[in-house]
Amino acid sequence: MTTPLNLKNLERAQLRDALAELGHKPFRGDQVFRWIWRRRVDSIEAMTDLSLALREQLAGARIPRLEPADVRVAEDGTTKLLIALDDGKQVESVIIPDKDRRTLCVSTQVGCAMACTFCRTATMGLIRHLEPWEIVEQVLIAERVLEERGEGRTIQLKGRGQAGKVERALTNLVFMGMGEPLHNHAGTAAACRILTDEQGIGFPPRRITVSTVGLADRIEPFLAETGVNLAISLNAPDDGVRNQIMPVNRKFDMDVLLDTVSKLELSRRQRVTFEYVLLAGLNDSVEQAASLGKRLVPVADRIKVNLIPFNPHEGADFQRPDLDDVEAFRETLLQWGVEKVHVRRPRGDRILAACGQLALEKKPG
Ligand code: SF4
Repeated sequence: MTTPLNLKNLERAQLRDALAELGHKPFRGDQVFRWIWRRRVDSIEAMTDLSLALREQLAGARIPRLEPADVRVAEDGTTKLLIALDDGKQVESVIIPDKDRRTLCVSTQVGCAMACTFCRTATMGLIRHLEPWEIVEQVLIAERVLEERGEGRTIQLKGRGQAGKVERALTNLVFMGMGEPLHNHAGTAAACRILTDEQGIGFPPRRITVSTVGLADRIEPFLAETGVNLAISLNAPDDGVRNQIMPVNRKFDMDVLLDTVSKLELSRRQRVTFEYVLLAGLNDSVEQAASLGKRLVPVADRIKVNLIPFNPHEGADFQRPDLDDVEAFRETLLQWGVEKVHVRRPRGDRILAACGQLALEKKPG
């Protein structure tokens, strides 16, 4: 028995090809794509402007939908969604509200193979890649949760001067949940293309940031394929510390990473974000900030740095640094000419909102 075709896993160009193979004009693929992602129908019967013959041909295809198995809301509004996959596995997404922004942190794998020592997801190992539709569904689920709470809606705006404009429940997407997005290069890139396709969800690429531990050889091709923004988890001032906490550094060290960043084609205002999780006593001293700042000088005008005080979890070997140390670290980077250095305040501590934590509490299987 062959597996029924999952229409949600196809990018628009693939849908056009699939319908052409069935003997239909390729634009029928655009229609089906719009029904699925813009009008968000769950059945072929609902696609009323398709011919009966085409609907009959597609009758065996699937338009699956995922649901949250658990929703936890912290006092600051951070909302953790545990999402049940069809095979019984689970991943998590986190909605992070901040002033007029609502950002969704998206997962790309069940578990992760990268073995960063400060990360709870790492202890799961890699279970599997997410398929493109499983990545995109996290966005739709989050939008539904926000809409049900009256905290936003996603609608096509109508009226004068509004053509093509969309009001969105979510303002930004960051691929920083479970998994290493570029390890699941094909699935993540396809998901980005589905998300940004203007005939479907139409999420602006400039509002999407994909975060990598630094799989340097995949960075440039991935950005060329998707047009989204890039963040790199740096987390260390030098290779000694980075080797200790991020095994990937043995393959792509800091020189390779910085060289890759220096060669990226960026638009005038675009910057690569370096994420730096501050671990007390390991990578948070002023001397280390100075050493990092010096190293970042050649790329200082094309990057910004996000400092993230570690969010300790049960069994973690690391502690959160004092706020004074965080501030001193930030000041030192600024002195070295890194113009944009932000400190990300801890969010949703009570619901374990550092990525990779809830899914382990309710272990898949
Ligand atoms: S920090 Fe990210 S890349 Fe590293 S193990 Fe955790 S999920 Fe994987």
